[in-house]
Amino acid sequence: MPVALITGVSGQDGTFLAERLLAEGFEVHGLVRPSDPSRHDVFRAYPDIVFHEGDLAEPSRLVDLVRDVAPDELYNLAGISSVAQSWDEPVATGIVTGVAVAGILEGAARVAEEQGRSPRVVQASSAEIFGWPATAPQDETTAVRPVSPYGAAKAYAHHMVSVYRSRGVHASACILYNHESTRRPRTFVTRKITSAVAGIARGDGTMLALGNLDARRDWGWAPDYVDAMVRAARHERADDFVIATGTSHTVSDFVRIAFARAGIEDWRSRVEIDARFSRPVDSPEFVGDASKARRLLCWGPSVTFEEIVHRMVDHDLAGLDGGR
Ligand code: GDP
Repeated sequence: MPVALITGVSGQDGTFLAERLLAEGFEVHGLVRPSDPSRHDVFRAYPDIVFHEGDLAEPSRLVDLVRDVAPDELYNLAGISSVAQSWDEPVATGIVTGVAVAGILEGAARVAEEQGRSPRVVQASSAEIFGWPATAPQDETTAVRPVSPYGAAKAYAHHMVSVYRSRGVHASACILYNHESTRRPRTFVTRKITSAVAGIARGDGTMLALGNLDARRDWGWAPDYVDAMVRAARHERADDFVIATGTSHTVSDFVRIAFARAGIEDWRSRVEIDARFSRPVDSPEFVGDASKARRLLCWGPSVTFEEIVHRMVDHDLAGLDGGR
């Protein structure tokens, strides 16, 4: 039975990935933080996963975990995943989103030495490594020059993947653009919008308070991005891959379509700008060119922007209507 290790297994991408690998017959191991408030729910929801409690803030222990599990496939999805949060916790972000990756890669290198085969490692890299990109769309050759603590931590991790790749570890970096689903937490703007829109549509009388409405992001559907990571793990050559739809929209596009889906056309009267939700530095646009992933991994996005917004709004309306 093939073995997979997923860090960040309790998150949006982690749960989609675990479901997929379990269905394929993998023995799935998952790393969860002892302080993760949702961990008991995840333990209950996924009795077939072998859970390991561990803290990414102790990267040296990750080396032993990877050696003990000796996985065939290793997906590093853990870390502080919100850019907004990284401004509040820059030191912790550097450790868990950045330095921890050194422990994971070193563990994979030891497995390769001891067993003569490298685990297939996939790092969930991020468009944030490009910071304020000079070119659009970005691809694998775009300069890495982050502008947020999150981007800087991801940039370190990204470089370490190529360091260990040149040392013989089968390590790929998927440079993931924003990817959403009904499992997205409300710390991200998409779910914040769709959950607020549902409440407003059902008459809760609130306003939707947002920061920068003009930021453009390349939003895709999370299960497609998980599929890209699996394809990268199984590709014969480890490499870097941009994973994106190639189309960007503004935050206000998302807001407009979400309100319209809930039957509200006059969205401007329901939205207020609140400086607390603006960031010290916010990249004006990310849009990715995934030609390399299309060519080498036969990967492509399967859900349009409008459909993503509709699915998320419908889910949040159904939640309020007691439909699930
Ligand atoms: P990110 O691209 O990984 O930071 O994902 P987010 O969903 O957190 O943010 C996407 C964009 O929405 C960024 O440009 C934010 O500045 C912008 N944005 C505007 N208002 C908000 C808000 O209230 N919350 C969040 N999280 N982002 C917001």
